[in-house]
Amino acid sequence: MIISRSIKSLQKQIKSLKLRNNKISLVPTMGSLHEGHLSLIKKAKGKKRIVIVSIFINPTQFGANEDFAKYPKNTSRDINLLKKISTDIVFLPHNKDILKYKTSKLKQPKLPVEKILCGKSRPRYFPGVGKIIIKLFDIIKPDYAYFGEKDYQQLYFIKQLVKSLKFHTKIIPGKTIRDSSGIALSSRNLYLNDAQKLIAKNIIVILRKTKRELLRNWNPLKILNQNKKILIDIGVSKIDYFELRSENFNKNIPKDRKCRLFIAVFIGSTRLIDNIKIN
Ligand code: AMP
Repeated sequence: MIISRSIKSLQKQIKSLKLRNNKISLVPTMGSLHEGHLSLIKKAKGKKRIVIVSIFINPTQFGANEDFAKYPKNTSRDINLLKKISTDIVFLPHNKDILKYKTSKLKQPKLPVEKILCGKSRPRYFPGVGKIIIKLFDIIKPDYAYFGEKDYQQLYFIKQLVKSLKFHTKIIPGKTIRDSSGIALSSRNLYLNDAQKLIAKNIIVILRKTKRELLRNWNPLKILNQNKKILIDIGVSKIDYFELRSENFNKNIPKDRKCRLFIAVFIGSTRLIDNIKIN
């Protein structure tokens, strides 16, 4: 496995790999890798594919009072995990190199999806994610890039970004990976103590219960309110949002009820998100 820390050396390695007719798959991450990340990497492999995993804790996507300073960092553990599943290149750029890298003629669009759900409570999040993804795509020019459905709004945002900037990268989703108790894997789960984990386990329980109730009797307002109350009763500190949205993030749900439940809650000071498909 090649460990690449500079943009120049990465681009040279990509050029020489491309000469051999390989397609590039990129899996962008912020490190502290878990099975969610690894499942994307496994999916990204294939015949004549070069798999590049980037690890970059993107400072521009964190708000002033968010957890950038304490975001978990486990680089040597990550490198070992990546070696084990035979990744081709791990890109570990220095903050200042990425931040000062100028993209050629690409102007970041403002997309409507940046304003809702996670974008509403974390106004720096999507502009920050977009800023770094544009740079990574411009540097690497991946043929395929993999994003998890765990961050469904982010996946949708990236698809819109690619469309708007006419990148030639195909965005491929990966299923949400959960632990045996149903908690969606997240680097932020490391912040939770045992009592908080008990609450976190019930996020999926409430999502599935809400789904069952909706399909039995379509009364979203009432059912969501009842289940919000249960979340507070079991110890969730704050509900950021718990909403039903169509697959393209509309509040109006289509007749075929193709939609998803989206949730973001605080357990103590840890903010966790999850979502499930309804139909
Ligand atoms: P992060 O390191 O949290 O920025 O995540 C990097 C990528 O892994 C993103 O595309 C996430 O959506 C994806 N990811 C994170 N957690 C999971 C999970 N539990 N299941 C599937 N994908 C995930």
